[in-house]
Amino acid sequence: MTDLRDLYQQVVLDHGRHPRNFGVCCSADHTKEGYNPLCGDRLTVTVVEKNGVIEDIMFEGTGCAISTASASLMTEAIKGKGVEDAHRLFEQFHTLVTTGDLVDAEKRLGKLVVLAGVSAFPARVKCATLAWHTLMGALNDEAGVVSTETD
Ligand code: ZN
Repeated sequence: MTDLRDLYQQVVLDHGRHPRNFGVCCSADHTKEGYNPLCGDRLTVTVVEKNGVIEDIMFEGTGCAISTASASLMTEAIKGKGVEDAHRLFEQFHTLVTTGDLVDAEKRLGKLVVLAGVSAFPARVKCATLAWHTLMGALNDEAGVVSTETD
């Protein structure tokens, strides 16, 4: 289990340092800003959606390694998926990072399981879910900035 944790840690550090899909979609259908006041993480998610499919997704912003890594991993997991799939993945990811339950998690969540360890640190759950809350706000075209403190 220690080796697995090390591997997870490496993936999180890698995505934190070298985030994928970092930037702004030039013809975004949805744009949303998210803020986690507990940690100071801020990010903006832009989405290109065609017929219920997320054709492109990017993010940019500044935050801790966990929030950046989670946003990066989210964009990789979500790109090309349907909007319904995105909602389901968010539910499953939220369960993972709040319970740390890895049973069957990799099958459902793929590489996102590397963030399971944040379940031991409740304050970090906000960092890990900020990008997802922001994505949901973007897809629902909610008004205003998404904050982790309005849950
Ligand atoms: Zn954070």
